[in-house]
Amino acid sequence: MSHISYSELKDWAFCPFYHKLTRIDKIDGFKGNAYTAFGTAVHSVCEKKLLKEEFDDEQYFIDTFADCISDLPSDVEVDSGLVDQMVGQGKEIIPEIEDALEDYFEEFEVMAVEMPLMEAIDGDDKMFKGYIDAVVATPDGKVHIFDWKTCSWGWDSKKKSDKLVTYQLTLYKHFFCQKMNIDPKDVETHFALLKRTAKKNRVEFFRVTSGVKKTENALKLLRTALYNIKNSRYIKNRLSCTGGYGCKFYKTEHCP
Ligand code: SF4
Repeated sequence: MSHISYSELKDWAFCPFYHKLTRIDKIDGFKGNAYTAFGTAVHSVCEKKLLKEEFDDEQYFIDTFADCISDLPSDVEVDSGLVDQMVGQGKEIIPEIEDALEDYFEEFEVMAVEMPLMEAIDGDDKMFKGYIDAVVATPDGKVHIFDWKTCSWGWDSKKKSDKLVTYQLTLYKHFFCQKMNIDPKDVETHFALLKRTAKKNRVEFFRVTSGVKKTENALKLLRTALYNIKNSRYIKNRLSCTGGYGCKFYKTEHCP
């Protein structure tokens, strides 16, 4: 392993043994599904809109979503009824994207979309890898990093402030500032929710604070994960076996 991404860190924090099974032993790793296909297609529309490309957004979404569905491995079950519903949901989200961007940032200039990060981690020989969905600048001199997230009705306040969820933006901000040599004080971070089943406000931006202390904590977690992975310490986090959505390996041959 020469680098680590946020999603790998998230898997490790969920359960170090789960990380081993999926990322090292490569057992039954996540292969995608209709939800990730939907996310990819809507993300792609958002990207084109930010770049102010002239295109038929609805048709582009329908075609991209169909391509993403057909690219799923043959053993991934796809519910065609759900796919049809998602086409309708995507068509409702798309017209709200530009208005939501303008309402939230008012005036802004796009600096980058899908910005790649491959940055050295201080105190470790591994790199941090990631892609920042969008970077925009506003006239007050601030730079804003944001990440599109597709979801169903939205996120509750617990999820919006969840430490591990928001560490994604904290780490992106830290390594973005390192890459661009920008003062972190001038950078703000946000999530942009793209809500499939909401009846209104289908695109919602909200700010996530990523200050000095939180950045230190996120980096500490990253280094702890790297240290444990490097030393093949794969402790089972039994709290994750049945909590939340649970773990697919619970009581299977891989994790009896
Ligand atoms: S079943 Fe529990 S201990 Fe086993 S990998 Fe999953 S979360 Fe970890």
